[in-house]
Amino acid sequence: MSRLILVLGDQLSENLSALREADKGSDVVVMAEVREEATYVQHHPKKIALVFAAMRKFAASLREDGWDVRYTELDDTDNAGSIPGELLRRADETGAKEVIATEPGEWRLIEALSDMPLKIHQLADDRFIASRSEFEDWAKGRKSLRMEYFYREQRKKTGYMMDGDEPAGGQWNYDHDNRQPAPEDIDFGGPMHFTPDETVEAVLELVEARFGNWFGELRPFWFATDRGQARRALTHFVKHALPKFGDYQDAMMGDERFLYHSVISAYMNLGLLDPREVCDAVEQSWRDGDTPINAAEGYIRQVIGWREYMRQIYFHEGPDYPRRNALNHQRALPPLYWGAETKMHCLSKAVEQTRDEAYAHHIQRLMVTGNFALLCGIDPAEVEDWYMRVYFDAFEWVTAPNTVGMSQFADGGVIASKPYVSSGTYIDKMSDYCGDCHYSVKQKTGEGACPFNVLYWHFMDRHRDRFEKNPRMAQIYGTWDRMKPDKRETIVAEAEDFLKRLSSGDTV
Ligand SMILES: Cc1cc2nc3c(=O)[nH]c(=O)nc-3n(C[C@H](O)[C@H](O)[C@H](O)COP(=O)(O)OP(=O)(O)OC[C@H]3O[C@@H](n4cnc5c(N)ncnc54)[C@H](O)[C@@H]3O)c2cc1C
Ligand code: SF4
Repeated sequence: MSRLILVLGDQLSENLSALREADKGSDVVVMAEVREEATYVQHHPKKIALVFAAMRKFAASLREDGWDVRYTELDDTDNAGSIPGELLRRADETGAKEVIATEPGEWRLIEALSDMPLKIHQLADDRFIASRSEFEDWAKGRKSLRMEYFYREQRKKTGYMMDGDEPAGGQWNYDHDNRQPAPEDIDFGGPMHFTPDETVEAVLELVEARFGNWFGELRPFWFATDRGQARRALTHFVKHALPKFGDYQDAMMGDERFLYHSVISAYMNLGLLDPREVCDAVEQSWRDGDTPINAAEGYIRQVIGWREYMRQIYFHEGPDYPRRNALNHQRALPPLYWGAETKMHCLSKAVEQTRDEAYAHHIQRLMVTGNFALLCGIDPAEVEDWYMRVYFDAFEWVTAPNTVGMSQFADGGVIASKPYVSSGTYIDKMSDYCGDCHYSVKQKTGEGACPFNVLYWHFMDRHRDRFEKNPRMAQIYGTWDRMKPDKRETIVAEAEDFLKRLSSGDTV
């Protein structure tokens, strides 16, 4: 009897554990564009198009390879609307009683599959470098689960950038070389663009008709939508941008949306690229002498360190993780996150590019939109919902730890040893935003002062009980305490006035 082989929209890899376990001659592959997945958050139209187009092309390649694929398009009249519904429909159709799946990357779907009246085998997703049990062993008995130590274990295990047992070049981490401010100009033309083919165009029309009024521009659509294109995008990045990736990793520029970033997170998250092949290409470029060590190590750390670690934290912490709120932040997300006018140039630029591209790089997400939300005390559930809605690479296993944990400190410090907050000074140092801003970053208080400057101290002051004993923050509280009392009062009063205006819908 045939079994159903479930392939989800972010499992588009030929070597998926469920496909490896299947029998091509007798089993049936089930793939479905379902309303529940497309609408449980209002994803950016570019992201929906990317996922559906990549799914359609992957299904076609499986068929060419001899698989029996039952594919349901969103507008098919008998579409059951959910993954469990589609599995039941295909089970009826084929008489199958068993389903083989690769474990989904989201608690919601893992639980939905577990509750089904079919026999379900959920296999480990071994496209990741670390397994869940390996992380649990590593985490056992540790007081804190810092990424850096996990990363070193992954380096030793994979052998990436190692000379025997020692890290290449003698250091595990070259981040101190990776903090150069925005350069005068950029000699990289950006990520590789792909012209939509017939399959992609059909999906674009569908998405335009069904989701065209959601936040985000659908066109121009230029993402890679199959493995061949994703490979070309990777090669293009390694050759033209990787050598400067490290130097300008943290820099931000208003009119250079991609700087030297790879823009391949979504391709990895969908399964079009394997993280190992990405790291192989990066290491090779360094070994060939084309890429400096700080860039190669920095990049590999993002992939085998941060990316893997975030996934592990998501599973380790459990299903309630995305809704944590350790700082008890309750303010509603202000309309400027949806493109309402703001005089704050950094925010306006970050939101504008997010709307256009479904992309912003890490520091824009962390130190502009994330920093502002944290300083203002926005409800982290609303912040998480925003990040899930607006980025091309958003999937809960990676968005939640980055947003709830790293960016909003809503997990109480599982990921970050201190909150990622800054005044305007950091943004000014790392970007060219401030020169074109209505506000003055140099001005600390008073009419026209950069709002980040007062919000930063207001945050420190209102969370003093939690943070003052943190040794990494002692200096900050020392500086605050040395300020004259009337200066501190002015800062707090101005921040409160700003927050009042923000919440009442004034343009800030
Ligand atoms: C608030 C916030 C939300 C985020 N949401 C997501 C998300 O939904 N999906 C997502 O894939 N990444 C997310 N990130 C991490 C990171 O910002 C993106 O992976 C990165 O910007 C993607 O662009 P890139 O491919 O050009 O990355 P590059 O800068 O070129 O980095 C290389 C690769 O490293 C990996 N990487 C780097 N940092 C991280 C990280 N912190 N977590 C996981 N992987 C990382 C990505 O796979 C990325 O492609 C978020 C970060 C923050 C601060
Ligand atoms: S002055 Fe402040 S608000 Fe304006 S761009 Fe700089 S950091 Fe942003």
